[in-house]
Amino acid sequence: NDTLEQSRAYDPQDLWRKDKDHFIHPFTDFSVFHDQGCDLITDSEGIYVTDSHGNRFIDGIAGLWCVNVGHGRAEIGAAMAEQATRMAYFSTFNNLSNAPAAELAAKLAELAPAHLNHVFYSCGGSAANDATVRLVHYYFNRLGKPTKKRILSRKNAYHGTTYLAASLTGIESNNWDFDTLDHLVTHLSEANCYRRPEGVSEAEYCDRLVEELEETIGRLGADNIAAFIAEPIMGAGGVLMAPKGYHARMQAVCRAHDILYIADEVVTGFGRLGHFFASDAVFDTQPDIINVAKGLSSGYAPLGATLLSDELYEVLSTPQGPGGVLSTGFTYSGHPVSCAAALKNIEIIEREAICANVREVGPYLESQLKTLAHHATIGDIRGSHFMLCIENVADKTTRELLPVEARVGDRVAFEAQQRGLIIRPVGHLNIVSPPLIWDRAVVDRVVAILDRAFTAATASLEADGYL
Ligand code: PMP
Repeated sequence: NDTLEQSRAYDPQDLWRKDKDHFIHPFTDFSVFHDQGCDLITDSEGIYVTDSHGNRFIDGIAGLWCVNVGHGRAEIGAAMAEQATRMAYFSTFNNLSNAPAAELAAKLAELAPAHLNHVFYSCGGSAANDATVRLVHYYFNRLGKPTKKRILSRKNAYHGTTYLAASLTGIESNNWDFDTLDHLVTHLSEANCYRRPEGVSEAEYCDRLVEELEETIGRLGADNIAAFIAEPIMGAGGVLMAPKGYHARMQAVCRAHDILYIADEVVTGFGRLGHFFASDAVFDTQPDIINVAKGLSSGYAPLGATLLSDELYEVLSTPQGPGGVLSTGFTYSGHPVSCAAALKNIEIIEREAICANVREVGPYLESQLKTLAHHATIGDIRGSHFMLCIENVADKTTRELLPVEARVGDRVAFEAQQRGLIIRPVGHLNIVSPPLIWDRAVVDRVVAILDRAFTAATASLEADGYL
């Protein structure tokens, strides 16, 4: 215990300085970072995290929509420690494997839609999407259809930041001053009910989006298109909700044109919408491929997985002939410690009926958040279950946005944090994506904090002349 106490006795100032001088942070605004550096999160337990100054916060973003079973699960730590000391790592190339990777693959096949029985491991969501595109190209090459290369994605989609995953990503600001692989990707319109064209019904809007897909296929030629990739609900792009029936109709068009349907369930998977997989249970689709990460291990260890259909596997696993192998994969594909974490994580989700908790508490969270709609900046409160978002606007009728300099999302997040709650600002949005163990009492506390945070943020916007 002495050692534990010593390891907990961080020197906040020393760490702050080391971090600021040497850690290049992902997704960081240097105009703020150069000045302020970072807040260090040092401890966590259940629904809470604590910073290096000892301030405790309710975690409203599950780390980064990933700590689905909540923080400080000693049994996941123990499973990882046991695996690390028994056999921390060995190759999974060339007919070698390990127990947790084999167990987890079988478990994923059991949980996934019936036709998805084969798992390709990676180290996170970006890598899973990247690997998927390579596998899809390989699949069509082997079928003698080498021109099928283009991937259809959507504006405002988020699929990660490897070169290829960033190219699939359709959030323009994410790629400012970066290059993208435009010869491989075509972006369709986002599906965004809140900002659909004026006077257009949801059903008509859906028709238009499906027509756009058909037109795009007509223009590019189905022979040149390999796959369509979509998040069931767009996450980082702003928790954008598609019109009813959209995904199933998009899939039907893809199927009719021999275009594979890839569901990026990195956020929606593992309980966030009340099911292990949302594609079939919520959106009535049967993807050829589902990608998962984040909640797969609840963030206790880096892990991603691509779940492939029997049909795809049959082609990928056809022997190439003498000397030929499926030459793709990572040193850490099927890492034993990550897979051990995932297995324990899934055991907890099942044992504690966490999906059922989300189905029960999720609609309550949504309805309670909607009681905040009267606040001056709130234009839309949307999402589903434990994947929710508040869109701030300058004008509720025209849906016009506040100027970027107003930093409305940051202001709301700051005021919430001052009151003990961490939510995520993304431009003019505030995202709420909690650990899946929140109960109704926590929801009540969170909504009370947000109510006060929006009041304070509105006052500061008024004081600065933005409202
Ligand atoms: N796909 C989606 C839908 C995501 O939300 C994310 C991460 N937020 C990724 C892919 C990329 O995952 P990672 O950051 O683990 O590479």
